[in-house]
Amino acid sequence: MDKEEFRRFGHELIDWIADYFDRIDDLAVLATIEPGDLKARLPPAAPLRGEPMQQIVSDVDRLIVPALTHWSHPSFFAYFATSTSGPGILGELLTAAFDNKAMLWRTSPASTELEEVTLDWLRQMMGLDPGMIGIIYDTASVSSMHAIAAAREGVEKRIREDGMSGRPDLPLLRIYVSEQAHSSIEKAVITLGLGQRALRKIPADREFRMEPRALAAAVEEDKAAGYLPFCVVATVGTTSTSSIDPVLDIVPICEQHAMWLHVDAAYAGSAAIVPEFRSILAGCERADSLVTNPHKWLFTPFDLSVLYCRHTDLLKRAFSLVPEYLKTPEQEKVRSGSDYGIQLGRRFRALKLWMVIRYFGHEGLAARIREHCRLADLFASWIEESPDWELMAPHPLALVCFRACPAGASPKELDALNEAIMHGVNASGRALLSHTKLNDKLTLRLSIGNIRTTEQHVRRVWELLNQQLEKTR
Ligand code: PLP
Repeated sequence: MDKEEFRRFGHELIDWIADYFDRIDDLAVLATIEPGDLKARLPPAAPLRGEPMQQIVSDVDRLIVPALTHWSHPSFFAYFATSTSGPGILGELLTAAFDNKAMLWRTSPASTELEEVTLDWLRQMMGLDPGMIGIIYDTASVSSMHAIAAAREGVEKRIREDGMSGRPDLPLLRIYVSEQAHSSIEKAVITLGLGQRALRKIPADREFRMEPRALAAAVEEDKAAGYLPFCVVATVGTTSTSSIDPVLDIVPICEQHAMWLHVDAAYAGSAAIVPEFRSILAGCERADSLVTNPHKWLFTPFDLSVLYCRHTDLLKRAFSLVPEYLKTPEQEKVRSGSDYGIQLGRRFRALKLWMVIRYFGHEGLAARIREHCRLADLFASWIEESPDWELMAPHPLALVCFRACPAGASPKELDALNEAIMHGVNASGRALLSHTKLNDKLTLRLSIGNIRTTEQHVRRVWELLNQQLEKTR
């Protein structure tokens, strides 16, 4: 692609993106195609000769856009609503142009040093203590897996060298999470060869928070049975309800039994940049590691997850392996990303986060998160005031768990009714919700996290919900 063509289509696509955000409110949030529709419209083999860019771009409109679920839509309230932003998109554009593989300091000094500085800014914004050193991975699943690998390295059982199989000297290692923890922790346990049996799920209380007393009892019981408890994962902002495990009460149990405390704040960590929400991280100053995802609630395009770790030496011991062809004269003086994880090459992700933080400023980011929480409060107040709806969990941040509960319906009917309401709203294309089960009851979730979501969008989804409820009467 020559310079002129690049310039022309570059400008055209930036215009396209600006227009996309202008018209996004009119697009159906959920993809409008059926499974297999897009595949059926695409050629089964690659073109032999290059095609004109104009045609490729027009196929984006014709084929790709209808097959998108629009995560950037201001009425996307499903899962955890997230959003990209102008400076984040422009940062990604530059990252693609630089195409750095930041495996060693020298293969991308800018990526290495900008990552260190930007993550230290974020650490300060979140009020984490200076002992927490940040490292970027793609997702929270991967960040947590690395934290658990470092914790395992810390048990000093030569697992890196000797592995875990065929070892009568190695007791079953135990790791504890609440029953509300994200499935990524169990996947990490599977990936690291600890085995699902290593994961013990601790009951949660009525507000979906880990029960510290049950944790303490489980650890005692496991020790008596000859197991080796080595790690606890507390969640600040669980996926189903955004409940916050009592980290302050979990810390002493970890300290007493020399267990690593990892905090999964993938969703809620961003909220700690708002001074009045900082207390959600109470106790985390004594954690060994913590993950937070700027790609969830810090207006940074997917993907960018940050692991803060107090013992980067253990992380390095678990993963560093430097063959001859990667040795450099400065390696003792600098940080090389590939020493801290399974990947060799690493994307230059810090650039977009640096641009986002600089563009909005700490106050600008905090103001947007604060507004999302206000909108969630407002929505929850409508639920509370209506006899037809009920709240299903506390809403400490910007996620509301609720359901319709019209008089006279049996528990089974309520599940079916709420499912029908959710599918009705989603099929309208005007908003997207998702669900969970709480105490075995189907529960609707409304998550507010998109930078373009306004009170008007929240009022509209409330109307849609009530229209759907009326249809079921
Ligand atoms: N942890 C929590 C609490 C989450 O809510 C999620 C996703 O929603 C994850 C981890 C996994 O995030 P990722 O997609 O970055 O792996």
